[in-house]
Amino acid sequence: MSYLDLSIREIHQAYLEKKVTPLELTKEALLRAKTSGDNCFECLDEDGAIAFASSLTEVEEDNLLWGIPYACKDNISTKGIETTASSNILNGYVPVFDATVIAKLKEAKAILIGKTTLDELAMGGTGMTGHKGWTYNPFDPSHTRMIGGSSSGSAAAVAASIVPFSLGSDTGDSIRKPASYAGLVGLKPTWGRISRYGLFPFAPSLDHIGFFTRNVEDCAILLSALAGRDEKDTTSSLKPVEDYVAEMGKTPQIRIAIIKEIIDSIRNPFVLGAFNKFVEGLISKGAVVEYVHMDKRLLLSMHVTYYIISSAMATSNNANLDGIKFGPHQDGDTYEECMRKARTIGFSERIKRRFVLGSYCLLAENQTDYFLRAQRNRAKIVALVNGILKDHDFILAPAAPTVAPRFDEAVDPLSEETLIAGNHLVLGNFAGLPSITIPFALQDGLPLGVNFMGRAFDEGRLFAIASKGESLTGLRGLSAPKEGK
Ligand code: GLN
Repeated sequence: MSYLDLSIREIHQAYLEKKVTPLELTKEALLRAKTSGDNCFECLDEDGAIAFASSLTEVEEDNLLWGIPYACKDNISTKGIETTASSNILNGYVPVFDATVIAKLKEAKAILIGKTTLDELAMGGTGMTGHKGWTYNPFDPSHTRMIGGSSSGSAAAVAASIVPFSLGSDTGDSIRKPASYAGLVGLKPTWGRISRYGLFPFAPSLDHIGFFTRNVEDCAILLSALAGRDEKDTTSSLKPVEDYVAEMGKTPQIRIAIIKEIIDSIRNPFVLGAFNKFVEGLISKGAVVEYVHMDKRLLLSMHVTYYIISSAMATSNNANLDGIKFGPHQDGDTYEECMRKARTIGFSERIKRRFVLGSYCLLAENQTDYFLRAQRNRAKIVALVNGILKDHDFILAPAAPTVAPRFDEAVDPLSEETLIAGNHLVLGNFAGLPSITIPFALQDGLPLGVNFMGRAFDEGRLFAIASKGESLTGLRGLSAPKEGK
């Protein structure tokens, strides 16, 4: 056993009892990071982490994050540490400022050990498209299964117990889907709850910062520390930040909705059986559970709606990646030529495809038919979701219809299972609602996640129900088996 396998509170207790020091733990985290075969890291900040850890000698009793090592997705700005978003266009880019979340964690004296791999520019869901190659799922030592994405390295680093928590970003499902494949707790809070200053924008009306942990309480601790108004991000909320750990301990009366069409689209009998058992457990704990309906055509349209809106936004938000302000410079006689060359070699084909689609949807003659139509469809979907949440506190569903897919597995992108059960997490992004995935079962040793989505700014009760769920599963603190064991 290592202290790195424990929760934030347990590590804090070990610090208080002087059983271990931040320096010892940081060195061990760095060693685990260097010997891991899962390709979780873009880069490690060994010198910075060791220097910071060495300076932490007097444990702060009331500060649970004091001396806790963590990792951060490489699309969040870190002053003085290369930040590439796993894209060649940003090779060598070293930010001159910290994202607000990084500044807050520094102030809380948490120790950043390194930047984690992602699908290029956070566009993707496989962990296979970053410029450093595939990231592997630590639950499958034979390296045949993906961890999902786009926050692949952040998920893998926590699942492999390299660090107890990591930061990620979520535009469609990029924290909550990999959390499902990696047996982790993954939170995307309400839009505006956490400042996004310093997050590389992908589609700002859908983008969120959130995190991976191995238990619900750690998530509540982190949200209490990282939520709040930030003058540098005008979309951050003015709402006061609650003590989410205290809220988590409460036992409110809870009404849960399950969208029948999501469950009906799942093919895997094991997932359905385990889900039913989980639901029965919640009922036995006093939750009221009701099946509700949602227009299937609208559910089938989630993916295309997301794709159009996110690609359009990505096209305009990434226009600054021109090889002049950022990234490897290419010679040319004109600005256009330098830019064309840099973007040609800097982006992979997939990213270019999204930009082409985004530009097409934004052309003056196409905007009404594509971008605005997608936005109208989004508004319809959001109205239905908020309607369900008028009468219910949460919407519950398996986070994904299967365990982590194999890299070579053929998944039909247009099946109802993929379009509905594989995509419903995006409802939380469309509506900006808080959404948490927790592990709820293992199928042949591979984790399955379940997701709760709540009303805006109702994170306190979201943690309360997630913690109730966690106590039913016996999977609190799950991590991948250590290699060689
Ligand atoms: N998989 C989705 C995409 O490819 C979501 C990505 C994300 O949430 N960053 O766009």
